[in-house]
Amino acid sequence: MSKGRRNRPRRPKRSPVERSQSRDVTFSWVYPIVLTYRCSYECGYCPFPVTAGPPLPSKSAVQQRVARARRLGISQVRLTAGEGLENHPDIVSTFKFYGYSNFTDYLKGLIGEVASNGIAPALFPEMDLGALSLFEMQRLRPHIFTLRLYLESMDSDLQYSVAHAGSEAKWPRNRLKALLAAAQLGIPVNSGLMVGIGESAESRTKTLQTLAQLASRHGHIQSVTIQPFMPQARTPMSHLPAPSPETLLEVAAEARKLLPDSVSIQFPMVNCPERVMDFIEAGVGDLGDFDLTGDAHDAASINAFKIVSEKLGLAGIKLSDRLSLFPRYSCEQWTTPYYRDLLRNLGSAGPPPSNGKPARTQSKNNSKPDGKATPKSEPEKAAR
Ligand code: SF4
Repeated sequence: MSKGRRNRPRRPKRSPVERSQSRDVTFSWVYPIVLTYRCSYECGYCPFPVTAGPPLPSKSAVQQRVARARRLGISQVRLTAGEGLENHPDIVSTFKFYGYSNFTDYLKGLIGEVASNGIAPALFPEMDLGALSLFEMQRLRPHIFTLRLYLESMDSDLQYSVAHAGSEAKWPRNRLKALLAAAQLGIPVNSGLMVGIGESAESRTKTLQTLAQLASRHGHIQSVTIQPFMPQARTPMSHLPAPSPETLLEVAAEARKLLPDSVSIQFPMVNCPERVMDFIEAGVGDLGDFDLTGDAHDAASINAFKIVSEKLGLAGIKLSDRLSLFPRYSCEQWTTPYYRDLLRNLGSAGPPPSNGKPARTQSKNNSKPDGKATPKSEPEKAAR
């Protein structure tokens, strides 16, 4: 190395805010469709088990919601339901009444309505259906755009607490199985962890490390959301406090440190919009969902969005909405031809597969090029 080069002053590392000024901070505007509040489990913080409602909507009821999303100019809907639905006799009798032999066939029918290529503009579905099995994901794969599937927590003590004692689907082994099934099928996932449900600080680090290992090995984790516990009326955990913004900022900073740069760190800024610059400083690059539909019950979301937009505007940071599929995943490795066509029509098709795609470092047959089996990663061992 020449003397002149050695003496050249190093460019100081840019802060997260400076980095944000050179690229967009994102949020997502998504139209939520809750298919059913029925669930086979009882997480202590979730209002689903105490919410009444019909078992499943008909195709025409979903068509009406989809038409409203289109009228509002929203490009994506999120289909949400509880888990373990085939254990509910009324769910089974309902999808049979609609002419489907199982829940996945019912879902396929609905997604056909949502993402219909014949009606413009295109609507993209994100599925938020919990820990689907490998078999269910295989059946749905051609219809899946992205999955929202949180790891939630690697704290196995939660299995004995009000948070997850009644919810085997949330036990780490079962969550990991679902995340690995998505990896095996090349499904882009928006994952996350819960903060404030009784987990230890050490287990939060373990959860982030596990997500980092999954992301590095399989490449299918697009984003990780830091999801704060919020006490909900009539739930067993309604009397417990939400985590403080300081705790959440610490988790966000740790997430940014542990996860690969390619994974976006999200925080649902609707919860504390005044602190948006602190969260960006901590490494958050996506502000989560804002419901901007203009319905009366969305006033808080609209107000939070105004506050966030103003603060970012003053800091010279651009705020853009995004699809649940991050642009670098819109290549043939991660997106089915059907959705690639829709994206192309939108002008959002990503780079060709050889150009900057996220690496899937594990081959599908789980073998190294020399034919020897690839050693199991920690998440794979924990899922057994
Ligand atoms: S599994 Fe999901 S829907 Fe069911 S109770 Fe838990 S958080 Fe709620």
